[in-house]
Amino acid sequence: MSRVEALDVEEVDIVDIIGRVAAEDLASDIDISPFAHAAMDGFAMRAEQLAGATAENPVELDVIAEVPAGAWYDGDIKEGQCVRIMTGAPLPEAADAVVKYEIVGIVSGDGRQGSRVAFAKPASVGDNIRAAGEEAKAGEVIVHAGEVVHSAGVGFLAGCGVTRAKTYRRPTVAIIATGSELVDPTEVPTQGKIRNSNSYALAACAVDAGAIPTVLPISPDDFEGLKAEVLAAAAKYDFVVTSGGAANGDYDFIKKVVDDAGELLMVTVNMRPGKAQTFGIVNGTPVFGLPGNPAAAYLGFEMIIRPALRKMQGYSHFDRPHVKARLIGTQKKKDPRRIFNRATLSKDDEGYLVTPAKNQSSGLFGPIQKANCFVVLPEGDPCVYEEGALMDCVMLDIPEEVLL
Ligand code: AMP
Ligand code: MG
Repeated sequence: MSRVEALDVEEVDIVDIIGRVAAEDLASDIDISPFAHAAMDGFAMRAEQLAGATAENPVELDVIAEVPAGAWYDGDIKEGQCVRIMTGAPLPEAADAVVKYEIVGIVSGDGRQGSRVAFAKPASVGDNIRAAGEEAKAGEVIVHAGEVVHSAGVGFLAGCGVTRAKTYRRPTVAIIATGSELVDPTEVPTQGKIRNSNSYALAACAVDAGAIPTVLPISPDDFEGLKAEVLAAAAKYDFVVTSGGAANGDYDFIKKVVDDAGELLMVTVNMRPGKAQTFGIVNGTPVFGLPGNPAAAYLGFEMIIRPALRKMQGYSHFDRPHVKARLIGTQKKKDPRRIFNRATLSKDDEGYLVTPAKNQSSGLFGPIQKANCFVVLPEGDPCVYEEGALMDCVMLDIPEEVLL
């Protein structure tokens, strides 16, 4: 996280800023609303005209004008008079309250101009009126730099005359799978080969993180070849992600490549799955070498790369929501690392329950597709978590800003 910063800014149409971070303070050019107006269809008058009105002794007023939305009435309203007014229409200068249609009786006519209407209750100053400048004053900042803009915010901006806004550029992410056993998903693998599934999961993770992924061709297990690929990608993209060849096998080259081509900063993380996590900087570009095992690669992206990609887009929340849940079944912790097991959260009257997937192999995507959280077994000595133990769970697919 300390090695990445927010990228440069771009100006976009406000609809395209949805879910992204405002990179500047955005202010209204006018008061919102620009004028006091009726919040209901009804009749406008001064509240004092209705003082003492009761069902037995209603106050009767003549309807002297009509103000639809978009029109304007600047005449007087004398004793014994009122104005028919529609929702959104400007409140006449001479009025200070609106009484909704539904509670007004008709004495003569149809309630429109020229009719006489009856009020069975008093009104208060300000009834059914939205004040001028109620939501914002001209020049007031309505969305601050650093704020995530939601769809309602886009409407607010439009109302305030802001149609284009600056946000942080989405990072471009190169995705390179390494492994001489890999073939494209369009091919049927021959003997000893498997399909490259990681690149597609990681590209999807990148999209989900707000980034723009490019899946580059598979790179065989070859030091020079991988180095050339990483160097080329580092020159062209904002972030480079590789998968495979991250451990200490005879054909694992990503650590050596990063060390040789740039600055190697990290090679392991005390977690499972996915201990081998390589990170470094090559010609100024972050390069992250994920393990090849699908669940390990996925976890590395979710826990380490995603926060970095979000920081590059100006976000300030980086942790997925966590909840405590009662364990269904038992969990054996065989390894001192922090373990993230794929699991499903459900809820009963007493709170959350968590059911870990039966197959926790790091080689599988399937259990993650079916899961909605990782259940965390904290780092420390091997132990057993019994049925009912209260476990920390990291929720997947829920935005970091959400409070649970
Ligand atoms: P490695 O990290 O290269 O030792 O790979 C660990 C395991 O993950 C091996 O079984 C690989 O075949 C598998 N693997 C590596 N890369 C991919 C990939 N792109 N898609 C699916 N599985 C992979
Ligand atoms: Mg390999």
